[in-house]
Amino acid sequence: MSWTTLIGNHRVKATLRAALREDRLAHALIFSGPDGVGKRQFALTLAKAVNCTEREADSCDQCSACRKIDEGAHMDVMLVEPEGTFIKIDQVRQLIQEAYYRPFEGRQRVFILDPADALNESAANALLKALEEPPATSLMILLTSRLHALLPTIRSRCQVHTFTPLTVKEIEGFLRERYRRPEDQTRLLARLSGGRIGRALEIDLSVYRTWRKEALELLKLLAAGDDRARLIKAAEYLGRKLSREEFEDRLSVVNILLRDLLYLAVEGDGADIINVDIASTLRRLAAVWPLERIAALSAHLETLRRNLQQNVHRQIALEDIFLLMVSGETCSSTEAKKRLLRK
Ligand SMILES: [Zn+2]
Repeated sequence: MSWTTLIGNHRVKATLRAALREDRLAHALIFSGPDGVGKRQFALTLAKAVNCTEREADSCDQCSACRKIDEGAHMDVMLVEPEGTFIKIDQVRQLIQEAYYRPFEGRQRVFILDPADALNESAANALLKALEEPPATSLMILLTSRLHALLPTIRSRCQVHTFTPLTVKEIEGFLRERYRRPEDQTRLLARLSGGRIGRALEIDLSVYRTWRKEALELLKLLAAGDDRARLIKAAEYLGRKLSREEFEDRLSVVNILLRDLLYLAVEGDGADIINVDIASTLRRLAAVWPLERIAALSAHLETLRRNLQQNVHRQIALEDIFLLMVSGETCSSTEAKKRLLRK
C-alpha cells in the first residue's frame, strides 16, 4: 500500500509523511494502538517509502524494492516476531548486528518488531543499547497494543505515534472495495469490528448470525416473561459444556443485542446500533421491553461474566438470572445503563 491507499489514522499518516519529506524522521518509532487498526501496514508502507526506487518519500508498489518488501523478501527490511511467547535476546542481538551493516540493496535498513511488548526483559535491555546510539541508516519500528508494557527507558528513546480505531465509514469503504458481499453484511461487519480492520477480517458472519438468532429467541422469551419452562431449557442450553471462551463469545452476542436495544429504547432512531440488518426486529422488541429491565439483564450478565473466573455453575447462575428477570426484579441503577451505553 502507498500512503494514499492506507486507511484511517490520518494524523499519524500526515506526521510521518511530513517528517519524511523534510528528512527528519526519527530512527526509532513506536506505533501504539489497538490490534487490527493498521499499525503493521503503516510500518511496511514506511519501509517502502524509505526504500522505493521510483518515488520520493512514498511507495510506488511497482518497483522491485516495493514488491520485495510486500513479499517479505527485501534484504534490508526485517520483521522480528516472537519465537514462542517472546522475542528473545538472541533475536535482538542479531537485529543489532544487522542494524550496523550498511543497507544491502536499499537506502535504509528497517526493523519492525511486532509486537514489541513480546520482548522479554533481557531482550528489551539489549535493544536499549541500539536505541541509545541508533545507526544512521537504520530505522526501528516497534509495534504494540500495550504501550505500558514496554520499558519506560525504551519508550523515552522512541518517537511514539498513537493509532486509534477506524470509523465505521472507513471500514465499510475498505470492505466494499476488496470484497464482494451483500451490502447488509458489509454494514454489519463494519459495526461489529469495533474500528479494527483485523477484527472485521476475522469475524465469521454465519457463525455470528447463528448465535445471534439463538440469543434473540432467548431475549424474546425473557421479554414475554411467561414461559419459565422454556427459560430453564434456555439456561440449560447456554450453560452446557462450552469452553469458557466459547461461553463468553455467546454472552458477548447477547450483550451486543442488549446494547442495541438500549440505544433504541433511549434514542429511538437506531443510528448507532450494531445489528443494522435486523433493526426492525430489535425496534419491535425494544418497544415492548422496559428500558430498566434491559439494563437489569445486562448488569446481571456482566456480573456473571466477571464471576466466571470463580468457576460459578453457569447453568444455575443463568437460571437465577432469567427467573429473576421474569419475576419483576428491575435494575434502576443509572450507572449500569451508562456503562452499557458506552460499550
Ligand atoms: Zn517503489
